Amino acid sequence: MKPGGLLNVEFAGFFFYIGGFVMKINIQNLEHNVLEHEGNIETDFLEPELQRNYPHALNVRVKLDRFGKDYKIDVSIRTRAHYICDRCLKEYEPEFTANLSQVYQSDDGELLQDDDIKMLPANAVEIDINPLLHEAIVLHHPIKMVCSEDCKGICPGCGADLNIDTCTCSAGNVDPRWAELKKLIK
Ligand SMILES: [Zn+2]
Ligand SMILES: [Zn+2]
Repeated sequence: MKPGGLLNVEFAGFFFYIGGFVMKINIQNLEHNVLEHEGNIETDFLEPELQRNYPHALNVRVKLDRFGKDYKIDVSIRTRAHYICDRCLKEYEPEFTANLSQVYQSDDGELLQDDDIKMLPANAVEIDINPLLHEAIVLHHPIKMVCSEDCKGICPGCGADLNIDTCTCSAGNVDPRWAELKKLIK
């Protein structure tokens, strides 16, 4: 993966990265009301727990719309995730996409009471995109991780991975603890 910083040197003035994983938009002296950009950034800014699931660089597309002193930013993220299957415990790396929009309002006294709007200091020179990327990933992070819809999982009796092995419980190789129980039943 290319380090994020290199791709975006040409955008100096609008976007700049620090250390390859910080994404900010410089909103001073914007020449246009709409700004679009695509680049790769590393995931070091994610919480460690989340970074384990997203270790590969994120391809990020950012669109900024300016409305006077207010801004709307849309991000869309594409990467390969790193998950562990809940059923068979194997690691797999599916494609992961996430998107999110956020409105930023300049703090010039007329505050809108709205949870969906983030406030910017009146003299803000940049908007930090990292919290938005973090939130987008959290919102699209799966609750259940399954390597494939028809993953057969692991047999709770003999521990065989039923995708590649056959269960040995039914072949008479019963767990010794169960064998003891069976004797008692007889
Ligand atoms: Zn699986
Ligand atoms: Zn079994």
